[in-house]
Amino acid sequence: MSPNDIITGPAETTPVVSFEFFPPKNDKMAGRLWESVSRLEPMAPDFVSVTYGAGGSTRDRTHETVRRMARETSLSPAAHLTCVSATKQDVLNVADAYWNAGVKHIVALRGDAPEGMGQKFEPHPDGFRDSIDLIEGLQNNAADKGQDFEISVSCYPESHPDSRGMADDIQFLKAKQDAGASRAITQFFYDPDIYLAFLERAQAGGVTMPIIPGIMLQPNFEGLKRIAKLCAASLPDWLHALYDGTENDGETRDLITANVAAELCQKLQNAGIQKFHFYTLNKAGLALSTCHLLGLKPQSSGAPQ
Ligand code: FAD
Repeated sequence: MSPNDIITGPAETTPVVSFEFFPPKNDKMAGRLWESVSRLEPMAPDFVSVTYGAGGSTRDRTHETVRRMARETSLSPAAHLTCVSATKQDVLNVADAYWNAGVKHIVALRGDAPEGMGQKFEPHPDGFRDSIDLIEGLQNNAADKGQDFEISVSCYPESHPDSRGMADDIQFLKAKQDAGASRAITQFFYDPDIYLAFLERAQAGGVTMPIIPGIMLQPNFEGLKRIAKLCAASLPDWLHALYDGTENDGETRDLITANVAAELCQKLQNAGIQKFHFYTLNKAGLALSTCHLLGLKPQSSGAPQ
């Protein structure tokens, strides 16, 4: 993809989308989140997910947010859950509480070391070792209690910083599927060929569950650079060039962000991919613009303002 590619209009098939949110830290952020949720609800997403803060720091806020989504919206919410700084029993208690609140979809993750991304992950002495151990624990607990969770997991088209190599990563992803995962969501990326090559390798390695591309909607390029460095995602030169000079121009940054995301999705649609997971950062506007560029219109009453 290059910035010279021209958007020619939406593909013939409308995509299926899902949205990721993070739990709000204060009332002001809560206001923004719930406004975004109600503006995005008419897009009839396949599901929406809510992240779990590093080190389990947002445990209660994640729980509250997901429960409220289940209670007050027509959305199908998924709760992210990590193994960090928690015993197995603590984690399973959280899962039970979700089940009892009508939340039946978990995004099961290992998570980062409490010291931060990039530090070596050490499991809690009584905790789950890694994401596969977590999925197995969730499945055993669910089987004992007659629960039937849908489990999504992460994957990394450009490899995770802890990766022992792509061949290992594919085996690891296949093991997540064997343990009970039914969907993988990728780390963000900007080059469609990176995702398509990963998809091909994963499928050749026996991964049959859908691998949904994670599409980043971060208009703050400095912030994006910091995150990309920590999680080893590459940012192409043309992206640097596009954002260059927009530091004090939020409108232009937003316009670039939605267009870049839509163009990436269109390239993937041309390769047969129809499902996209948007990292919304709790901002409805960019997600709505991107959906619009892809030809996805509000499908239920209450058109977004
Ligand atoms: P895994 O996929 O389990 O492991 C990452 C890589 O490390 C693997 O690909 C594998 O190569 C290697 N690895 C790990 N364990 C083993 C092992 N036992 N044997 C062999 N190889 C191994 N973080 C949060 O704190 N909260 C969130 O809500 C959150 N949501 C996320 C959602 C998505 C879609 C993605 C892509 C990431 C998310 N993260 C979140 C970040 C994630 O927690 C970090 O990337 C973390 O470092 C890895 O957790 P994981 O479950 O993705 O790792």
